[in-house]
Amino acid sequence: MTAIAVLGSTNMDLVAYVAKAPRLGETVTGRDFRTVPGGKGANQAVAAARSGAEVVMIGAVGADEFGVRLRSALAGAGVGTAALRTVEGASGTAHITVDDEGGNSIVVIPGANALVTSLEPGDAARIGAADSLLLQLELPLEAVLAGALAARAHGVRTVLTPAPAQPLPAELLAATDLLVPNEHEAAALTGLTDVHLAAAALLQDVPEVVVTLGAAGVLYAARGREPLAVPAPRVRAVDTTAAGDTFVGALAVALGEGRPMPAALRWASAAAALSVQRPGAQDSMPTRAQTDAFALSGRKPEPGPPPA
Ligand code: ATP
Repeated sequence: MTAIAVLGSTNMDLVAYVAKAPRLGETVTGRDFRTVPGGKGANQAVAAARSGAEVVMIGAVGADEFGVRLRSALAGAGVGTAALRTVEGASGTAHITVDDEGGNSIVVIPGANALVTSLEPGDAARIGAADSLLLQLELPLEAVLAGALAARAHGVRTVLTPAPAQPLPAELLAATDLLVPNEHEAAALTGLTDVHLAAAALLQDVPEVVVTLGAAGVLYAARGREPLAVPAPRVRAVDTTAAGDTFVGALAVALGEGRPMPAALRWASAAAALSVQRPGAQDSMPTRAQTDAFALSGRKPEPGPPPA
């Protein structure tokens, strides 16, 4: 079984649904409120576990009710939580307002995630035992860099999602094998809005890049190879939350199983296309069997949550 380590964030998403988002100083009455486990690290961990990998999550939750729920959501999805610390203070939260047009505004309060500034004893060994280490930028950069260097020292593939976009230290890029920005992050990192030019520019720093393009699929670029565009399956999207995280988790599993990159990209695209047809973040992520069936048949499966 493919082994994946994730060093990343766990957040409780606090989602308020309103007809129209309030302006500064304004109060509006909303329609609905939900608390949903999220955080890019936790999302990628759940995606990889559902895709059939053995996953360990390295990070932190707070000593609060959200921390208990975040841990049990991960455990319930089959993610190993022995390296998920409980620290003093609040868990990470994302305060999200979604309006009737589908637009959203988000305030993220890192909470416990901000306290992960280095690896703890045992983490390097956990990373070393994995096929890939999945990294994002919702933890302090020192921790992300420490994880990438530990992976590099053990010959473990590092997959970095550069979100939220921010300038990346040369040392982190030098320890990254595969960079997976969306098109906005690729533009922010390079200053180039043309996705082909942005991918080519990123190849100066990392050997392989996958730029995700929403419903348009992905563009894969690698040093010394022709770029490869993989279209997304045509589906009716109802909620694209965590589509990118679903894609990355599934891609890492497929690569860990030794699938060639084009096949791995198609399989991960199938997983992400399934996730956008269902509401939710972690709840919308397909199982390995569901992705296999969809990838093979190309048929649109029945909507609904994956089996527990
Ligand atoms: P998010 O922040 O919502 O997780 P993202 O901005 O990181 O997403 P996107 O590029 O929007 O990432 O989507 C990631 C992948 O998900 C796409 O490359 C594609 O494979 C799949 N995807 C997203 N939207 C759709 C869609 N409407 N139809 C089919 N596949 C989709």
